[in-house]
Amino acid sequence: MKANLQSLKPHRKDKETPVPDSEFEIINRYFSSRASDSENIILGIGDDAAVISTPADKQLVVSVDTLISGVHFPSQTSAADIAWKALAVNLSDLAAMGATPAWFTLALSLPEVDHHWLAVFSDSLAEISSIYRIPLVGGDTTRGALSITIQVAGHVPVGRALLRSGAKVGDQIFVSGNIGDAALGLYVLQQQSERNEDIDYLLECLNRPQPRIDLGQALTEVASACIDISDGLFADLSHILKASGVGAQLQQDHIPLSEVAKRFLSDKENRLTGIYNRGDDYELCFCVPAEKCSQLYAIEKLSACKLTCIGKIVTGNELQVFDAQGKLVDISHDNYDHFAEKI
Ligand code: ADP
Ligand code: MG
Repeated sequence: MKANLQSLKPHRKDKETPVPDSEFEIINRYFSSRASDSENIILGIGDDAAVISTPADKQLVVSVDTLISGVHFPSQTSAADIAWKALAVNLSDLAAMGATPAWFTLALSLPEVDHHWLAVFSDSLAEISSIYRIPLVGGDTTRGALSITIQVAGHVPVGRALLRSGAKVGDQIFVSGNIGDAALGLYVLQQQSERNEDIDYLLECLNRPQPRIDLGQALTEVASACIDISDGLFADLSHILKASGVGAQLQQDHIPLSEVAKRFLSDKENRLTGIYNRGDDYELCFCVPAEKCSQLYAIEKLSACKLTCIGKIVTGNELQVFDAQGKLVDISHDNYDHFAEKI
């Protein structure tokens, strides 16, 4: 099966102009001409460095993530999906901090100059950067194994960034969206499952995560702690617990699964373990003091994103997960190695 979700449509520029070979021409053709303006960008791509103003009442929130072919995405992933995911996972970090996207840089390492690949990659990158209104202001282009490093910056009002360290005993724990779809996407990719609507949905979840930017900003008003789920719900919630010096109790049957995931998992052939902790969800996991929970209904509506209470913060330092019968679930082996095992 082909992993590519997008057919690689030819780029119109391929036919018009001769193939550029220098680094400068590549930057010019695929990146600087695509960069969009923003009032804070005094100088973008083209000089030795970008010049950017930061509004006086804001703090800068900065993060960087590298995606390496064969490690962070299967090598057959389409250029369009790679570009989307590379920026989306970084935007997800901004969302987790409650930040508004401001600008990003791109360090691209390419094994060869493949114009078709570059055209599709830069089209997709321009698409997501315009959706989330985050302009590209600079970068670096080198030859080497395929890797994409994106640095993002965002703004938060002074002192308002959402941290991992603020969870308090009694807070309710929520997640956005559904958990596990991206992990199932990777599973069906590895199984080379035949395509149908459900499989397409799962692959879309794997390749096109939707960073919860609007939700993150709204949560600065109510959440005591927040993290984005990149490594797995239990693993990432544990970071909140450690940073906040608290424990948590979760109801496993409250953890939201999509209808597709439920259908998929009810099939005897697909009895997977570790579905809740596989990562790549890029949903937000956050804590809210009980008295502020009523505000979440408005936030849920505003951000058009389902929010589900999955448990509460307790004393101690443990993460305990209970099944529907109230029995403690052993999550100590809920990790990557065990995920794909059939039981
Ligand atoms: P230098 O040698 O000074 O690092 P470069 O030739 O690497 O300059 O880069 C020239 C300009 O192009 C800089 O403004 C840089 O930020 C930008 N640039 C280089 N590669 C990329 C890229 N992949 N995406 C966006 N901008 C880039
Ligand atoms: Mg450079």
